[in-house]
Amino acid sequence: MRFRPELDPLTPYKPPRPSQEAAAERGTDDYVKLTSNELSFGPLPEAEAALAEALPRANRYPDRHAAALREAVAAADPGTDPARNVLVGNGSSEVLLNLLQLVEQPGEILFPWPSFGLYVSIGITLGLSPKKVPLTKRHEIEPEALLSAVTGETRAVILSNPNNPTGTHLTLEEVRSLADALPDNVFLILDEAYQEFVSDPAYHGSHALALERENVVCVRTFSKAHGLAGVRAGYGIASPRVADYVERVRFPFSVNLAAQVAATASMRAREKIRARARFVIRERERVERAFSEAGLNYVPSQGNFVLVETGPEVFEKAGVLVREGAALGFPGWSRVTIGDSGENDRVIGALS
Ligand code: PMP
Repeated sequence: MRFRPELDPLTPYKPPRPSQEAAAERGTDDYVKLTSNELSFGPLPEAEAALAEALPRANRYPDRHAAALREAVAAADPGTDPARNVLVGNGSSEVLLNLLQLVEQPGEILFPWPSFGLYVSIGITLGLSPKKVPLTKRHEIEPEALLSAVTGETRAVILSNPNNPTGTHLTLEEVRSLADALPDNVFLILDEAYQEFVSDPAYHGSHALALERENVVCVRTFSKAHGLAGVRAGYGIASPRVADYVERVRFPFSVNLAAQVAATASMRAREKIRARARFVIRERERVERAFSEAGLNYVPSQGNFVLVETGPEVFEKAGVLVREGAALGFPGWSRVTIGDSGENDRVIGALS
């Protein structure tokens, strides 16, 4: 059999080293997993209760339109019409895939780099050429560099905002200027997986931009602040035309019953999610202070992780598993997810 040759360079997603494996190497199971930017707390009790209540109905297909989930998303983002502006998906990964399925092929997709590796694999899978635009020396996204990389072949610009793995961000005004300067036929996809953890007040409100402009869309997830990475739910906010086309390419029932009920309940309790995010922000500041006091170079972050210039072995010897920077374009660095207080104490303890 012959397969499309452009798929040859792709490799299956390599997760961070399984915790058990590393723990076994150390001869202990006393480790903490701060590798994948997950939340260290479980889902909200409201989400757990919704899951338990839904399980006996697992013999039935879920709501094809995920109407309750769309309602909950719209209620959290004023001005959004649940039936016309909300995208849903099996994690925000599926929302990204569905959006990129809409653009004409062949063509290019642009994004700052280093950033989230999925942009490369989705692009290649769909026959779109990924074009990486380097971050600045301070690891920041540079809108001018993105704009000057746009050509007649550019179909989409994807911004992880804040950017994984650096935690750097653009403000809403900077995003708006970028949107103003981009040709109308180029998609601006704002991947806001970490938006709940942003403490800069000048960041928030991109959904209004997505409602105003047909070519701007924001994509968000229940995997981070909502603590629901295991059930797979993501969403987006877009113009009615984009939402209509996304629904044409989306798999029927891509958001399963468990994901629909848990995500809906969690979004309805969003005050509690906000409180959890505030905790993560405070803890992030504590961890950053400790890095600074230890004389380590780190990138000030707006996500639930901090990129720090020291190898993963420094943390591993203290039983803390972190993501090795080498896998993320930062050899010699580590990306440390912010955990609960005890876990963060261990991160800080590893420095002495
Ligand atoms: N975007 C970014 C920037 C991410 O870091 C992640 C998760 N690592 C995702 C999207 C995908 O998240 P999910 O599919 O779990 O919603």
